[in-house]
Amino acid sequence: MARRKKIYEGKAKILYEGPEPGTLVQYFKDDATAFNAEKRATIDGKGVLNNRLSEFFMSGLNAIGVPTHFIRRLNMREQLIRSVEIIPLEVVIRNVAAGSISKRLGIEEGTALPRPIVEFYYKDDTLGDPLVAEEHVITFGWASQQDLDDMVALGLRVNDFLSGLMMGVGIKLVDFKIEIGRIWEGDYMRLIVADEISPDSCRLWDMKTGQKLDKDVFRRDLGDLADAYTEVAKRLGVLPDQGTVSGPTLVN
Ligand code: C5P
Repeated sequence: MARRKKIYEGKAKILYEGPEPGTLVQYFKDDATAFNAEKRATIDGKGVLNNRLSEFFMSGLNAIGVPTHFIRRLNMREQLIRSVEIIPLEVVIRNVAAGSISKRLGIEEGTALPRPIVEFYYKDDTLGDPLVAEEHVITFGWASQQDLDDMVALGLRVNDFLSGLMMGVGIKLVDFKIEIGRIWEGDYMRLIVADEISPDSCRLWDMKTGQKLDKDVFRRDLGDLADAYTEVAKRLGVLPDQGTVSGPTLVN
């Protein structure tokens, strides 16, 4: 049997060559890392949950006209995606102060921001993904001013969509990270949402209790990460509630 070609292996995902030109297969691993991979663990079932959740968010975005790389889910851990040229920036959108902004600027975690803040981090593990200004992005040629404007617009649309979705199930979208890629259609270039959207890349707090339902559970040793992600998936209807999966039905 022919072995498929591995294109790239990251901390939480592997990319394989896709069945057609311009496509890739994205495989979700169970590996969890934090603090630039200083903390590592394998969390049973995380890859399966993130595959399903990323499918749910990305196909919802596609349906409202926000372009993403997602084509279709293939199986428990894999999805077919469009191959993009990744812009080497992490785009972080924040609604509530938490994590690095709280640390950097001394703003208490949980402080609501008067408007969403969009930040860019340069994707470079050896540098620890530093926060950069638009000036750096343009000067070093990572993206153009037009790209930056489009990335902010995309980020804010994703924020509105995800915030509403989460609010409907009693979860506050505190912040999240997206990655954006270029695709070429003839002579035209478009920016689309790539990588993944999952509790690995979002901060999600229960609106009533403040309970964390995201990767901070792992980063801060707050309990079982798979339980937190399962809770998010159940609330969104992505996974059926336990006990409701029925066996085969006899049809006559
Ligand atoms: O650490 P920080 O507060 O800057 O993270 C902001 C958001 O971006 C969080 O939701 C975090 O999970 C996400 N993030 C990420 N990957 C990174 C850095 C941050 O998904 N490398």
